[in-house]
Amino acid sequence: PNALLSATGTTIFTVMSALAVQHQAINLGQGFPDTDGPEDVVRAAAEALLDGRNQYPPMTGLPELREAVAAANARFWGIPVDPASEVVVTSGATEAITACLMALLDPGDEVVLIEPLYDTYLPVVRLLGAVPRLVRLQPPSWDLPRAELAAAFGPKTKAILLNTPMNPTGKVFTAAELAFIAELLQRHDAYAVCDEVYEHLTYDGWRHIPLMSLPGMRERCLRVGSAGKTFSLTGWKVGYITACRALAGVAAKAHQNLTFTTPPNLQRAVALGLGKEDAYFHDLAAGLAAKRDLLAEGLARIGFGVLPVRGSYFVTVDFTPLGYNGDDVAFCRHITEQAGVTAIPVSAFYEGNAPGHYARFAFCKRPEVLQAALDRLSRHF
Ligand code: PMP
Ligand code: GLN
Repeated sequence: PNALLSATGTTIFTVMSALAVQHQAINLGQGFPDTDGPEDVVRAAAEALLDGRNQYPPMTGLPELREAVAAANARFWGIPVDPASEVVVTSGATEAITACLMALLDPGDEVVLIEPLYDTYLPVVRLLGAVPRLVRLQPPSWDLPRAELAAAFGPKTKAILLNTPMNPTGKVFTAAELAFIAELLQRHDAYAVCDEVYEHLTYDGWRHIPLMSLPGMRERCLRVGSAGKTFSLTGWKVGYITACRALAGVAAKAHQNLTFTTPPNLQRAVALGLGKEDAYFHDLAAGLAAKRDLLAEGLARIGFGVLPVRGSYFVTVDFTPLGYNGDDVAFCRHITEQAGVTAIPVSAFYEGNAPGHYARFAFCKRPEVLQAALDRLSRHF
């Protein structure tokens, strides 16, 4: 068997979800909403099946979804996109990210990645024979360390993989940070894979800025979105890549060899969803902001050191003020088994030598579920 994959562990999300089931814990680990997204979107998918949308759709996506993705790029981010040549629909953002990395990387190329990072990035970069160059953000501010980032770029740099809004930190990259990255890309003639699955999930007036919308970046970025996050339907696994014609064409070649297509009924429903009125997208973020407040304030009352959250599904906490003496893996296991609440150890988002006293809680849950988790934790601590 492949040596790299044999050495890769089971993802922390699967491990912690299984532990949560085993201990009947409230699962605030893996990031999935506990209520489904808009009923008209779900109904459209169901009806499309009965309507005979059951055979292979076009390889780069149903025309109606490619048009909806292009229109959404223009409407939300001011990025004009040609639906025929600049959009590739994939089976989830996970596939999209892999396809984008395949599109860019040759063995020996260097890729700049920012820790803490989502757990699929490094294995894929390595499987492609590329070399990761890791730059670390430091809590609690998670500010971009500019000198270190600049030092990670060199003659072999092919790309940066950038996740904003960011999992697990809840960071939203600022215009100034993005401009700094854009300058590095131009100076080193490099590209960016932009994981923007949380593009619509920002709070307190923080607004997502796609790197692709900055001057000079239109031809250097492959921008990835996910219907799972935008419509609270994480099991659907419908993603989309937006890129200039040349890059989208190569990403499509990767997609053709990974999954080739994505279920047509889901594509048709997501096309409908992307056309929803502005109020839908506003209410999605406002609803999540209220849930964040409920969980973050409750965790702070219990005594956790709660870090600010500007976007995503997640709040990160420092548990040292509670006097717990183990590391984050032990802590997450402990609260699952002893308090009946599951979280994700933040060290899972680092390669080696990670800070060991942070845990990530997902707040994309019903208020009564968040309250029940808080009640359990406060009874325990
Ligand atoms: N990127 C990030 C940062 C994520 O948090 C997730 C999953 N939640 C994904 C990618 C994967 O998205 P999808 O489920 O569409 O594959
Ligand atoms: N992205 C989700 C999270 O960070 C999990 C997705 C998965 O289970 N692979 O919780």
